[in-house]
Amino acid sequence: MKLTSIIPCYNEEAALHYFYEEMQKVMRQMADVEFELLFVNDGSKDRTLEVIKELAEKDTRVKYISFSRNFGKEAAIYAGLSYSDGDLTAIMDADLQDPPSLLPDMYYAIVEEGYDSVATRRVNRKGEPPIRSFFARNFYRIMNRISKADIVDGARDYRLMNRSFVNALLEMGEYNRFSKGLFGWVGFETKWLEFQNVERVAGETKWSFWKLFLYSIDGIVAFSTMPLSIAAFLGVMMCFIAAAAIVFIIVRQILYGGSAFGWPSMVCIMMFLGGIQLLCIGILGSYLAKTYLEVKKRPIYICKETNIERSGTESHE
Ligand code: UDP
Ligand code: MG
Repeated sequence: MKLTSIIPCYNEEAALHYFYEEMQKVMRQMADVEFELLFVNDGSKDRTLEVIKELAEKDTRVKYISFSRNFGKEAAIYAGLSYSDGDLTAIMDADLQDPPSLLPDMYYAIVEEGYDSVATRRVNRKGEPPIRSFFARNFYRIMNRISKADIVDGARDYRLMNRSFVNALLEMGEYNRFSKGLFGWVGFETKWLEFQNVERVAGETKWSFWKLFLYSIDGIVAFSTMPLSIAAFLGVMMCFIAAAAIVFIIVRQILYGGSAFGWPSMVCIMMFLGGIQLLCIGILGSYLAKTYLEVKKRPIYICKETNIERSGTESHE
């Protein structure tokens, strides 16, 4: 049984050695499994690629794909998936926030218990800024209300999947990739393992608050058209309110006359409506923008160098 572990790395020179050490323990423990560590260097600006190459020289199980620039973690995951040819495929972060020690349990759940994938979620958000946790929680709440993709709060991208699950993910060659949503969308039987949040072993997080915020919008646009419906609903509501106001003004004019006052309120109403119109156009625009990116069919990543002979299945049509 072959297990390919995909590790997206962006400026992870400090964490990689710890990661490799930790993985070695697990690989020794699971001696009957043929491991492959597939590092995806996502255009790192530090010595990440050199470190990976050193590891690859020592250990033939270490493989790498190196991008021509930073394409983002989603692209790295996709690249890893398309190169992976194992029976089982795992995705894990390089910073040991996805504890490799869970792998044996995950393996057992697929091989013995017959699940198609095993996912993990952290049950707390220890060591995370409270404001970030607050937004994250609400994002998951809203997302689950407005989309069909079943997205679990605290879910990590750390997962072990069988071949059919990976193939299903690869079928979705969309450009705007939101893996947390894709995992839920494809279905299959998934087992959830829980663990306590671990802080990153070395180096620093690549996700600023703003980046996470934009990512969450990407997620909503990719998995729900509800904002469009809300825009349409707002329009209908405004029409009703306007109709009521017209009737009111006509009646008042007939009964009392003198409708010429009310300039300030008029300005307020115009600004308000203008705001709502711009908001709705903005919502429409973000869907259009995503559609535009999607129809261009640009490659999701560009591989600059690799030590894998086989080529990615879906990457360069
Ligand atoms: N990562 C990546 N490309 C990026 C940003 C991050 O491949 O543009 C990788 C990073 O090297 C790490 C994983 O994605 O292995 C998670 O990133 P990080 O630990 O910074 O995120 P956090 O755990 O803080 O959410
Ligand atoms: Mg991390």
